[in-house]
Amino acid sequence: MAGSNLRDALVEEIKDIYNAEKQIVKALPKMVKGATSDELRAAFESHLDETENQVSRLERVFELLDEKPRGKHCAGMAGILEEGSETLEEDAEDAVMDAMLIAGAQRVEHYEITAYGTAIAWAEALGLTEVAQVLGETLAEEKAADEKLSAIAESGVNDAATAGESEDDMDEEDDTEKAAPKRAEPASASARSASGATKATRPRGGRR
Ligand code: FE
Ligand code: ZN
Ligand code: FE
Repeated sequence: MAGSNLRDALVEEIKDIYNAEKQIVKALPKMVKGATSDELRAAFESHLDETENQVSRLERVFELLDEKPRGKHCAGMAGILEEGSETLEEDAEDAVMDAMLIAGAQRVEHYEITAYGTAIAWAEALGLTEVAQVLGETLAEEKAADEKLSAIAESGVNDAATAGESEDDMDEEDDTEKAAPKRAEPASASARSASGATKATRPRGGRR
């Protein structure tokens, strides 16, 4: 854009994030389906709710800026999500799949954290206090989502994902002392799929 100033740059940044959030709204349901642990699935579901609200918040930001809510294709997010959908096509043990989905989801969160951080700094520099405050609410959610994903990975998914790598491993079935903590237990995939049949119609390996 011609002679663009920081305010124009902010509007462009908001358009980019707006489009990125909408891409995420489309992608998250696939991550929900691909997740094998209940805890990870729940985390993706709740972040989907948050993300829908983040889209509305950006519409509020457009309003505050006196601009029409319009997105501009975010190639960065498209690339990250494309990698995520490649992950979903892989044929991996449940816990390994979860570990890879977490890795992809954290790339999404970090991209967003950077984008919102920049937009907030610019809004503050421009004296747009309310814009900065509204964006700050979303930034806090993105940081919390990122930390939640780290916690899920470290509370058992990563350990369970190494279960097949050790010399003395037997059936994943009896690996309780290994993948123990709290209620994550991604190792007990078979037990879960028996009980979680309601919303998780999960054709393991039957997807493609
Ligand atoms: Fe978001
Ligand atoms: Zn972008
Ligand atoms: Fe996010």
